[in-house]
Amino acid sequence: MAEAPAIEPLYEARKRIHPQSVTGTFRRIKWALLVLTLGIYYLLPFVRWTRGPHEPSQAVLIDLANGRFYFFFIELWPQEVYYVMGLLILAAFTLFLMNAVAGRIWCGYLCPQTVWTDLFMAVERVIEGDRRERIRLDAAPWSPSKVAQKLSKHTLWLVIAWGTGGAWVLYFADAPTLVKDLATGRAPFVAYLWIGILTFTTYVLAGFMREQVCTYMCPWPRIQGALTDRHSLNITYRFDRGEPRISAKKSAALRAKGEPAGDCVDCFQCVTACPAGIDIRNGLQMECIQCGLCADACDAVMVKLGRPTGLIAYESEDNLERFQRGEAPVYRLVRPRTVLYGILIAIVGIAMLTALALRSFTGLAAIHDRNPLFVTLADGSVRNGYTLRLLNKRPVERSFALTVEGLPGARLEAIGAPGDHGKAMVSVGSDTTHEVRVLVFAPAGAKLEKSVPVTFRIVDVASGEVASAHDHFKAP
Ligand code: SF4
Ligand code: SF4
Repeated sequence: MAEAPAIEPLYEARKRIHPQSVTGTFRRIKWALLVLTLGIYYLLPFVRWTRGPHEPSQAVLIDLANGRFYFFFIELWPQEVYYVMGLLILAAFTLFLMNAVAGRIWCGYLCPQTVWTDLFMAVERVIEGDRRERIRLDAAPWSPSKVAQKLSKHTLWLVIAWGTGGAWVLYFADAPTLVKDLATGRAPFVAYLWIGILTFTTYVLAGFMREQVCTYMCPWPRIQGALTDRHSLNITYRFDRGEPRISAKKSAALRAKGEPAGDCVDCFQCVTACPAGIDIRNGLQMECIQCGLCADACDAVMVKLGRPTGLIAYESEDNLERFQRGEAPVYRLVRPRTVLYGILIAIVGIAMLTALALRSFTGLAAIHDRNPLFVTLADGSVRNGYTLRLLNKRPVERSFALTVEGLPGARLEAIGAPGDHGKAMVSVGSDTTHEVRVLVFAPAGAKLEKSVPVTFRIVDVASGEVASAHDHFKAP
């Protein structure tokens, strides 16, 4: 009887990675970006911005209760959500451009998953030591000192995770007030709930799942292939630097005999430094987040051996072939793909800036009464009723002159607002909307169609800013 074929497991159990710490250019860039991005994230809610007496003084605030988004001098209303869409489109094109220039550098340097994982690893290193000590500790039986180390690490991780959730909710309310309310237990339940959710996700994603998020959960590695080309820079092993990969001693002996030997001494420093646990010498792999730490590790080895650095480096596929042909590298940052992304970024950026610069701070909307559509009064005049909503997006109270056009001899009356026959004066508080009921009268004997188009217009008496709304006047 034929033997049944062996069944391959569908899922591979995770191999625990204990990355070795490294020093070098890319590590320094990563530290600098970590401090910068986390500094912005944790401190931005406390930055103040003066807008006006009745306006929030927080520079960046998502005010869900009042439907406002504040970003320094910009204030967006819910109906201006298209600016957020524009920002997302801009972010997508910027990501495409970064990918076309240097692969997944977003992933390796700026992605929140990478930044928080780096921070969690730094804490782990301080408490449990570097790679070898951590491997030894994990393999050791439980002892009071191991419990103390693990407890300290997880406590610190939870404090960072809690701080991350805590900072997030500060973007949704006045930060100093919310901090006091949180400390005294008077903050709304939803604030504690969100802090709890984000504490949990940060702790699990950065403490335990780490590279698995980048490899299995993130869609980016799956689409990046379509966004790079043979001129994109990616962390690459320089195959042209020779084979075989053997120890420094053996390679020196081979070279002394005039036989070839590669620059790689097979020390595995690049593999042990890799937070994704891969060997970049096997070629570009989906798991690689382009963090450059393997390049730093290898450069340190090359310096020690007195060999040229850059055995692992940001290089393009095109340059790899050039190296193999013995030609000098060519770096083509400006090419159709990057130019196209650059143009798209410029177009969206300019469109958004123009829209912001020309943005109106005044608005008007009109709704005709549904029932009755018109009323014929005892003197023969015809009356229509409307509800008008006036928008004042400025941080000061404003006075508007309201008129109606398109109906000769018409009289307008705004309930509760002063005015004469031609117009009404309506005041609207700072940064708010005001609803007013308006009656329009067509004089007796006026020749009227069944539906006459009319335009309501408001003019700011101080600045002259204008807004209008169109509707119809109904007649018998
Ligand atoms: S292979 Fe190098 S660049 Fe890629 S993830 Fe590992 S250390 Fe980072
Ligand atoms: S660190 Fe450099 S020398 Fe060592 S194995 Fe990696 S590529 Fe080879």
